[in-house]
Order: sequence, then C-alpha cells, then structure tokens
Amino acid sequence: MPFSSLNLFPALLSAVADRDYLAPTAIQLAAIPAILQGRDVVASAQTGSGKTAAFALPLLQQISAKPAVPRGAIRPTSALVLVPTRELAAQVGETIVGLSAHLTRRVKVAVVFGGVSINPQMMNLRGGTDIVVATPGRLLDLIDHNAISISTLSTLVLDEADRLLDLGFGDELQRILRLLPETRQTLFFSATFPPAIEKLAATMLLAPLRIEFAQTTDTQPDIVQRAIEVDATRRTQLLRHFLQNPQWSRVLVFVATKHAAEIVAEKLRKYSIKAEPFHGELSQGKRQQVLHDFKAKALQVMVATDVAARGIDITQLPVVVNFDLPRSAVDYTHRIGRTGRAGEPGLAVSFVSASSEAHFRLIEKRQNFRVAREQIVGFEPTEAAVPGDPNGGVKGLRLSKKDKLREAAALAETAALAARR
Ligand code: AMP
Repeated sequence: MPFSSLNLFPALLSAVADRDYLAPTAIQLAAIPAILQGRDVVASAQTGSGKTAAFALPLLQQISAKPAVPRGAIRPTSALVLVPTRELAAQVGETIVGLSAHLTRRVKVAVVFGGVSINPQMMNLRGGTDIVVATPGRLLDLIDHNAISISTLSTLVLDEADRLLDLGFGDELQRILRLLPETRQTLFFSATFPPAIEKLAATMLLAPLRIEFAQTTDTQPDIVQRAIEVDATRRTQLLRHFLQNPQWSRVLVFVATKHAAEIVAEKLRKYSIKAEPFHGELSQGKRQQVLHDFKAKALQVMVATDVAARGIDITQLPVVVNFDLPRSAVDYTHRIGRTGRAGEPGLAVSFVSASSEAHFRLIEKRQNFRVAREQIVGFEPTEAAVPGDPNGGVKGLRLSKKDKLREAAALAETAALAARR
C-alpha cells in the first residue's frame, strides 16, 4: 500500500518522497491512520521499524491543520516527545524537522537534552514551540525555569518507553505526567513490554489501539546472528581478523564498560584501524563528533557502551559485535536492532568465551532462540566452558550485586589485557 493511501497532506508526501521512503513500513501502516483519528496508540516494534515517522507524520499533520500563529504571539506547546537519550532526541528532532520541510504553516520543533548549557535552549524556547523533543530531566529543569509549559499540549509521545524506565527516569516521568492535561492523545512506543511498562501504559492510555509485532530476534529474517567461541583474551585479535573482511566496513562494537570502550578502540587504532570509543563520559561535543564521523563513514569502528549507543540510528550499518555480552536479553535485542534496519540485511556477531557461555545460553532461553556456536580457524578457544551458575548471571534490568562484580571483573580483565600487550 502506498503512502498516498494514508490521507496525509501532499506536503508530507513530498517530504516522504524526499527521503526515498517508497512505501510505509508495517508500523506506519498500522499507526498513522489511528493517530490521525485521534486514538491513543501503544505500539511494540523493533528499533529500526520506522516508528519515528509513524508518529511524526500524523503529529505534523495535526499541528499544521491548526491556524498559523500570528507574528509575535507565543506558540502553545502542542506535542511533547519524551526520549531516553540525547542522541535519540537529536535524531528524532532531525526527522521531524525533515518531514515538516514542505508544510506551508511553519511547525517549530525544539530539541532539549541535558549535558549541555541550558541557556541556548531557554533562548530557543522564547516565543514557544509547537513540538518539543526532550529527555525527562532537562525538560523538568526548563519547566522549573518557566522556559516552557506543557499544560496545553494535545499529544504526548513516549519513545522507547522501556529504556526510559531502564535508565531510571521513572520518577521524572511521574512528575511530567502530573503536569500534563488529562485530556490528551498519548502514543506509547516501546521495544519491549516487561510488567513495569505494561503497568505504566495502563495508567497513561485510554482505550488504545494496540499494535504488536513479533519481538523475538528469531523472527527477524534480515539479521543473521552468529556466536563465535573465542578465549576472552583473544577477542581483539579476532575482531581485527574480521575487520579485514570488506563486509565489515562499518562496525558497531558493544562493550560492557566505558574503560573497555577506550581500551578496545585504542588497540584497534594501534593497527591503523579507524576506531573511536563512544560512551557516557565523553563530552557531548566529542560524542556528536564520533557519531558524525561514524555516520559519514570516516570511522570503521565505533566501540560503544549500551547506554551511549541506545537509540542511535545509523542507516545501512552492516555489522554489530557483542565484544562483551549484554547484561540482559532485552539489551541483546536492542543491540542487534542497530543493524538490519529498514529492510537492510544485517549481521550480529557475539563473542562467547568460556566464562560467558552460560550467560549467552540464558539470553537465548529468554529470547527463545538458539544460535549455533562457531569457531574460527586460528582462534579456537583453549578454555573450556565453566559448568555451574545455571542462571548464567542474567538478572532483571537493575544492576545486581553479581552484575556489579561481573562488570568489575570485565574491567580488570580488560586492564590486564591492556597491560600485557
Ligand atoms: P526508526 O525506527 O524511526 O528509527 O527508523 C529507522 C530507519 O528507517 C530510519 O533510517 C528511517 O529513515 C528509515 N525509514 C523510516 N520509514 C521508512 C520507510 N517507510 N521506508 C524506508 N525507510 C524508512
């Protein structure tokens, strides 16, 4: 079914054509008509499914149908899009602005997030904004400074709601909800629906249309998953081996800690591989630079932690590597969702060592799939898997004592490795 069947304004269809979207994705087909009718929507979809345009297009249509704001008048905030990370805020803002390009009524979009000075954001909000894309903490700061009011808004979008809770924004979210008008449209997007998210959705949504797509990774034909058995100490060498393959032209490597991100990137650079770390302790400017270089293909490898890489969208990313396994099965889904986006094929490779085998088995069990173990000639493991620990260490979403110990062990292991080389 083409975009033209969705009753979108011609200006929005032109913007879609500018972006070379040939046809709506499944979530766009399901969500756009319902949102245009004013319904609440709760959608579960894989990252990369096209969910940003699924809410941005109807939002823009609704706002551009309102009367133009007279010169000098304050724009009342019509829509708030809450996102968990700065990168996602910037990306969502960029998509909305791009899709609004041909509208005759100007729709102002403000993007606000923490980690940078609040003053330019306050200046930008003078005169109001139609849409604000925000991380929760900075939005509350701006509300406390009387720089913005959200009491008038018609639509609230929660993007990556599971991650908002996962990153500890629950209290901020509750404060924000209390400031919103009772009567509003709420659009709730989440990659996963653990009980806390179901509960949150139940309190926020009114007779929503529920849009569900398969969540388990085994139903994603576009992502090939591989699990390579290798000794933990030889992972960087194995990574260098793979990086010689032309298919590995751009690779997102996930590690457990900021320190590991620094060390792995540095080791690759020693072999003239263009690699940079990407984690929460880098300045906002540095993170933007690294992301820009990676997107522009000036970098072959970005070595990232989960939090930093959450929500970033890089089109045609061919390979994702779990250098360190993710802490939870949910994180595994998020990580591998970075590749194989919007119909492009993708490859997700997990390095599994003797000490992480049980952990990987539990991820497989939780996600109800099984990836065949492989060994690469010249990198055959010398250590045998450790029996015991039937849980494999995977716990809930918060760091358990065991998780903290594991993180510390991973850090020590990486540091020891660095000292040896
Ligand atoms: P999202 O799930 O919103 O992060 O989108 C993932 C990627 O899919 C982005 O690069 C979008 O530009 C792209 N995309 C969104 N909608 C479409 C579409 N209908 N056709 C092709 N690509 C799309």
